[in-house]
Amino acid sequence: MGDRVASVRFGHYAVPLAHPVSDAKVATGRQRPLSQIDVLTCEITTDDGLEGLGFSYTTRAGCRAQFAHAKEVGEILLGRDPSDIGRLYDGLLWAGASVGRSGVATQALAAVDVALWDLKAKRAGLPLAKLLGSYRDSVRTYNTSGGYLQAPVEEVKERARQSLSEGIGGIKIKVGQPDTREDLRRLTAVREHLGDDVPLMVDANQQWDRATALRFGRAVEELGLVWIEEPLDAYDAEGHAQLAAALGTPIATGEMLSSVPDLVRLIDLRAVGFLQPDVPRVGGITPYLKVAALADHAQLQVALHFVMEIHVHLAAAYPRESWVEHIEWLSPLFEERLEIEGGRMRVPDRPGLGLSLAAAAGAWRLDQVEFGAVAGRESDPGEFGAVAGREPDPGEFGEVAGRRSDRGEFGEVAGGRSGRVEFRADAG
Ligand SMILES: [Mg+2]
Repeated sequence: MGDRVASVRFGHYAVPLAHPVSDAKVATGRQRPLSQIDVLTCEITTDDGLEGLGFSYTTRAGCRAQFAHAKEVGEILLGRDPSDIGRLYDGLLWAGASVGRSGVATQALAAVDVALWDLKAKRAGLPLAKLLGSYRDSVRTYNTSGGYLQAPVEEVKERARQSLSEGIGGIKIKVGQPDTREDLRRLTAVREHLGDDVPLMVDANQQWDRATALRFGRAVEELGLVWIEEPLDAYDAEGHAQLAAALGTPIATGEMLSSVPDLVRLIDLRAVGFLQPDVPRVGGITPYLKVAALADHAQLQVALHFVMEIHVHLAAAYPRESWVEHIEWLSPLFEERLEIEGGRMRVPDRPGLGLSLAAAAGAWRLDQVEFGAVAGRESDPGEFGAVAGREPDPGEFGEVAGRRSDRGEFGEVAGGRSGRVEFRADAG
């Protein structure tokens, strides 16, 4: 009989960013600046004493729902063989089939799936990339975090230089502002500053219509961009295919899509030169591998979105040389750091993902639940962990004079109930 799952622990962490950032979705008033990343962790232990660590994430809303779903279905892992990843994923999927095979439901499963792959690689004594079958020991990496829209162009130029001096191999800047001429001014200034040899990308975060994207794409053909990212709505596969056919600069998209069929549609329509899957968003490594096989068959490169801690392994195991996005936002959550040199990120040589939660991470934990026995201490199935140093978040928005506000209430109540959800006009 094989090894068995002895315990499963889920955690919800809110990791603050050093500085809030704004992309085109903020510039068009659709979102607030991003100030934290919410992370759903999954820690699995086995009877043989092995441990697996996986995680999923959200920007802005959604992680509480991921945590709730994981808490609801996670107990079925107990006593099962953790090497049977396909069977376990299938069981988790069908346990929540009523809420679908994409979005929050499968993103909750992603944390489990990544933990199971991490555990399997540790059992083999191999880095995850080698368990999957590596093609290389390092991957090309580019920086995104220095190119957001709230930063003046002089700061973007300075941070780009800094990134390159630290060994990063390419620079991406945000575009997609309501005034496209401002985008062009910033982009041209950055290209002139960096010279023609530095790989440069732009990301419009879905905020153009088809005509604007085509005009912008034609205007920047001579700048030699590696790709134009998310020029259109994430679900406009036909529009991306039209752009890809019309422009010499490759199109990149896919980070927002949360199911295998959604990503396969981009492949089938020849809508991209660079496909941008995101393992947590698409439901884990298991569904990602289906997408990756089809993307390779279609001769595409991949440029995996965010969570470099997972994606460095998957880019190394993808047949074509591709890109990993360097965003350091989750680094404080982990003890280990990725090594970067000569434009490339080294695949860690530690077993599994090569990650462990930082001792300081507990300060950002909002919730925790654990199933199963853990040797050496009492288990508290279903109990939420205490958060040191802060009061539990009551889920309350806005103060209501003269009484306690109801949980889950939005806006001020003046002579009646408000049903509106208000967002501040703080677009950067
Ligand atoms: Mg992007």
